[in-house]
Amino acid sequence: MIHFVGAGPGAPDLITLRGARLLAEAGLVVYAGSLVNPQLLEGTPPGCVVMDSARMTLEDVVEALQSAHDRGIDAVRLHTGDPALYGAIREQMDQLDARGIPYDVTPGVSSLFGAAAALGAELTLPGVTQSLIVTRAEGRTPVPEAERLVGLAAHGCTLALFLSAGLLDRVEADLAAAGLEPDTPAAIVYRATWPDQQVHRCTASTLARTARQAGITRTALVLVGRFLGEGFDRSLLYDPAFSHGYRTAHAAPPCRKGPAEAARDE
Ligand code: SAH
Repeated sequence: MIHFVGAGPGAPDLITLRGARLLAEAGLVVYAGSLVNPQLLEGTPPGCVVMDSARMTLEDVVEALQSAHDRGIDAVRLHTGDPALYGAIREQMDQLDARGIPYDVTPGVSSLFGAAAALGAELTLPGVTQSLIVTRAEGRTPVPEAERLVGLAAHGCTLALFLSAGLLDRVEADLAAAGLEPDTPAAIVYRATWPDQQVHRCTASTLARTARQAGITRTALVLVGRFLGEGFDRSLLYDPAFSHGYRTAHAAPPCRKGPAEAARDE
């Protein structure tokens, strides 16, 4: 069996219990050497073959997985964060499908959530935003026309930019063109959850300068939005004046919606 496993954002104890168990049972591990913490490999059994995918092509990786499968060996394909985000797993799964090789996927803690934790931030803040857009600036990998940052940023919700730390001049220009106030709060989180993690709070108009001053060009999450600011509403769910399926209100609900209607939203 082939197991795609999310390694988490960096700290070796942020892999899931299932991911750690699969590593402990693996005969082959192919890991993304550029971003996966090598300490995780200490959890592999003696004799386990470990390959760094940084120098491998898709074909090389699939060959290695196929050869493990042919020999009845359990293989782990270890991806950074959660494999479903910018993980290039679909092309591997399609190749395995074509060869009739079974696989499963174990999720991981995305660096997005490692970064939110480092900031002590809630990405969906009542009264501020209830939506998160996960995207990237256009570099060598094209971004579809309909998903240009100018259009996405105009929503004014929380923005999380992967793979964009080296493109922040362009990001700043797009955020301004989208109508974001120059003082909209922003943050750059470098190597979230690693020992050398850095957290830089800045604004939508100082992202590029902030990254330059800190010497950050890669392995960073860029977050933009008023969720990083001061103001917000407290939640209805934990409001004493609000009834829902598990709790009855002490006083009249402070909200415009009826309590039942609002509770259905939670
Ligand atoms: N699947 C991964 C993302 C892989 S794409 C995940 O869920 O996190 C690689 C990009 O992820 C990097 O360019 C950077 O934007 C981000 N990234 C990965 N690890 C990171 C970390 N520890 N801290 C901040 N950003 C990280």
